[in-house]
Amino acid sequence: MIGDKPAIWRCRRAIDRRDSAQENELPISLYAQSPHRRNHGRRVYNTPMEFDAVVVGSGPNGLAAGIEMARAGCSVCVFEARDTVGGGARSAELTLPGFTHDVCSAIHPLAIASPFFNTLPLAKHGLEWIQPPAALAHPFDDGTAAVLEHTIERTCATLGPDAHAYAKVFAPLVRNSVKLIPEILAPPAHLPRHPWALMRFGMKAVQSAQKFIDRHFKASHARGLFAGIAAHSNMPLDHRPTAAAGLLLGMLGHSGGWPMPKGGSQKLSDALAAHLTSLGGRIVTGTPITRLGQLPSARAILLDVTPQQLLQLSGEQFPPSYRWELHKYQYGPGVFKMDWALNSPIPWKADACRRAGTLHLGGSAEEIAAGEEAVAKGRCPERPYVLLAQQSLFDASRAPQGKHTAWAYCHVPRGSKVDMTERIESQIERFAPGFRDCVISRHTMTPLDFENYNPNYIGGDITGGIQNILQTVARPSLRISPYSTPVDNLFICSSSTPPAAGVHGMCGYYAARAALQRLGYNRHTRG
Ligand SMILES: Cc1cc2nc3c(=O)[nH]c(=O)nc-3n(C[C@H](O)[C@H](O)[C@H](O)COP(=O)(O)OP(=O)(O)OC[C@H]3O[C@@H](n4cnc5c(N)ncnc54)[C@H](O)[C@@H]3O)c2cc1C
Repeated sequence: MIGDKPAIWRCRRAIDRRDSAQENELPISLYAQSPHRRNHGRRVYNTPMEFDAVVVGSGPNGLAAGIEMARAGCSVCVFEARDTVGGGARSAELTLPGFTHDVCSAIHPLAIASPFFNTLPLAKHGLEWIQPPAALAHPFDDGTAAVLEHTIERTCATLGPDAHAYAKVFAPLVRNSVKLIPEILAPPAHLPRHPWALMRFGMKAVQSAQKFIDRHFKASHARGLFAGIAAHSNMPLDHRPTAAAGLLLGMLGHSGGWPMPKGGSQKLSDALAAHLTSLGGRIVTGTPITRLGQLPSARAILLDVTPQQLLQLSGEQFPPSYRWELHKYQYGPGVFKMDWALNSPIPWKADACRRAGTLHLGGSAEEIAAGEEAVAKGRCPERPYVLLAQQSLFDASRAPQGKHTAWAYCHVPRGSKVDMTERIESQIERFAPGFRDCVISRHTMTPLDFENYNPNYIGGDITGGIQNILQTVARPSLRISPYSTPVDNLFICSSSTPPAAGVHGMCGYYAARAALQRLGYNRHTRG
């Protein structure tokens, strides 16, 4: 529980009151009366509300929404189902005491680049970024590796005959990254400030990774490197717009890096929560919301949930057309994740792998593409594409002295019950013989474990819904403001809205801006 005690008690009393008044429950739209006049840029309401804004879910987007509402001067209360804040940005001792593992997200190119997070004093609340010497290494069977280094020149030095082609693709993006990042991490209907830069990026990004690779790269290293980055999209690489993930995350590797928070991803969530409470916001943990009627009255309700839960929470209030749009929203494949406590660093064949925070294990572009295609067709690949992070090499606080941690996951069909332990560890052994001898303890999570852990991960889909072209434009539905719903004071703020998955808080920020606009607030009131 975070925040001053009396405030939390007030929230709990409000919840209890709603529970005992179940039979008389009003539709949520009636809790917030229509505004009847304006006053100093704010609307004045007939009925006193307990909060200006209530947020359900304390993931990075829920906390971002709460912060943006609070810094505009709103009273805010966030309700979180679990006992700690953070959603997909939490850490815990999953294996043994003294070993800190990231339960979900681990590496944060999007958080350090986030235009919203960059306006917040998160360092003041304890957030410290660690930049490994290299963002990413992609090893091959011959003991070499392609490496995403901080500079394009050093990256090119690992790419043999494709050095020039790589520089030609990434140098203009990196040069324009300050303009591009806020445009890319924005809703599709926003008015771009740099339309030409965005259009040039969009024309490349809209392609499939497969086509992009065939068009630009000849040799295994650049092809594999780009395929591995593009496969973060969790879609078959011959589907559009998988090139977007390769281009965006590749560019971020050179502009802001692929860092990790010192002490684990939980530190980012804790800093966001501390900033929210410093603005007067309240956070109530350990409170799953199953009916909107449980909530205290508020002028705006922002839900850090996916369309399936939005339907469960308030479907009966929506017109059939909106319900139909939410029903047909598509979820992507799931993930199978492993964490290890290790008695030594991973013994990589390629030395460069020891300098990288993240490893992509899957070999050639063709092999990665085949694995991702198998997953989309409902099969678990024998040799899965594995994303691995080795945080303790760069952050001594993650493990007892001399010991280490590793984090990895692979894509599997949604809801898959197949135990991928053997296949993931075989992929690591392939590039780091002797890995299994380093393992002291392991922890696994299946897609259904993820769904039980966080209801937003439907069948283990960690992206809040597939990110194909349709669901990039209409996420979760085709509306000018995708954050709004047909219920006046109800908003959706999760990664099922633009700009989609990842720890960046931009979905929450834009949802809050939509809510503030509806409430009649002016631009910014407080910093
Ligand atoms: C294994 C894994 C690895 C990942 N790796 C990365 C990575 O390295 N980098 C990266 O940028 N992203 C990564 N991600 C994705 C990232 O975690 C998500 O995109 C991000 O957390 C989405 O944020 P969100 O706020 O939309 O939702 P979430 O983070 O899912 O938060 C939703 C919160 O709402 C709560 N909640 C839901 N329903 C209710 C309810 N009814 N009542 C109360 N509370 C509720 C949940 O408990 C949860 O705390 C990863 C995810 C996973 C699972």
